[in-house]
Amino acid sequence: MSDFDFHALILAAGQGSRLGGTPKQYRQLQGRDIWLYAVLALASHPSCRGGVIVCPDGEAAYHATKLAEYQLNHWTAVTGGAERQDSVKAGLEQLLAMKPKAVFIHDAARPFLPRDMIDRMLGLFNQHPTEKTDRKTGKKTADHNDIKAIVPALSPADSLKTVNDNLVTGQIDREQVIRVQTPQLFHFDTIYELHQRFSGAGFTDDSSLAEEAGIPIHVIDGDPRTFKITTESDWIMAQMMVPAQTMISRVGFGYDVHRFEHPADTDKRTHIMLCGIAIDHDQSVIAHSDGDVGLHALTDAILGAIGDGDIGTHFPPSDEKWLHASSDVFLIDACRRLAENSGKLVNCDITIIAEAPKVLPHRNAMVARLAELTGLDQHAVSVKATTSEGMGFIGHKQGLAAHAVVSVLLPVSGMEK
Ligand code: MG
Repeated sequence: MSDFDFHALILAAGQGSRLGGTPKQYRQLQGRDIWLYAVLALASHPSCRGGVIVCPDGEAAYHATKLAEYQLNHWTAVTGGAERQDSVKAGLEQLLAMKPKAVFIHDAARPFLPRDMIDRMLGLFNQHPTEKTDRKTGKKTADHNDIKAIVPALSPADSLKTVNDNLVTGQIDREQVIRVQTPQLFHFDTIYELHQRFSGAGFTDDSSLAEEAGIPIHVIDGDPRTFKITTESDWIMAQMMVPAQTMISRVGFGYDVHRFEHPADTDKRTHIMLCGIAIDHDQSVIAHSDGDVGLHALTDAILGAIGDGDIGTHFPPSDEKWLHASSDVFLIDACRRLAENSGKLVNCDITIIAEAPKVLPHRNAMVARLAELTGLDQHAVSVKATTSEGMGFIGHKQGLAAHAVVSVLLPVSGMEK
């Protein structure tokens, strides 16, 4: 363990009543829960050895799932208590087994945590040990643990007044006051002991416990960006601080063909699947799955747009699992892969090439089904059909084919990975 190693405790147990609606820690900033910003800011620091997120009753499983999603293996979720102080105590007790040396205690409602501020706090906490001289022996020893508590703070830029019933009653000297933020950095054993000692005392921040115990609290310059989201204006500012992701457009193309099983036989009625719709026909197709050329071409087009192989890569015909499978499964899986890349399907355009059956009578049903499967608006789904004028294998009714083109939007950062 290096001197600078630390653990983190993030408080997300509050209900955020002032903002109303969803508790503020679960509001979404560019598609990510607010509380995750604070967790990621601390977890991504090279000296962070793990942490705990303290959440409201009933939410621990959700938080644990998210932590796993971001591969935060040394982080756990724990249920908080009725008051802030109870929640911190629960978090510290959870951290105890990790034997932390130093702990950052931070509010999830402060999503923006500049790396520079973390570094300055760690730098002060781990400053060169002071030498202590034993008066009797004259022996010099290093004292590593001079600093037990550090808080970031801002000087008020505005004039400060006292007020009563909307009337100013006096003024306060700006030089005498600071606005204390989080994260606050503590020597773990010290803050752990203080939370045991002052359990239930209702302090609103952790440095107050140190103050109560007479432990010096060191102050460093805070950062205005680390504001707490409390009001609707704070929320607007937070949204302005996270720029919208730049999306780029990509195109994907897919082609599929299937052979008819037997020559047209008007006495032998059967059906084929086309764009998710069963169509009465006098020929059936040879296929491992249901042989829907429309859905197969569209699935390949989506996979092509995100550069993720093709239908055969993910659903090999050699796998008995996909025998007679409904091709809906393939398309839904491709859409899921697109969504996992934070991508968005913009439109699709499918052309079916067959002498028969006629597509036109089924076109509306196909468009509706494709819209349902892809989540697209029906106006963004196109199904067209043509014959091959009696020429070639399609013209000789030996098989049918489909072409599909899609346009997708993908985040630039996702593409640069
Ligand atoms: Mg196929």
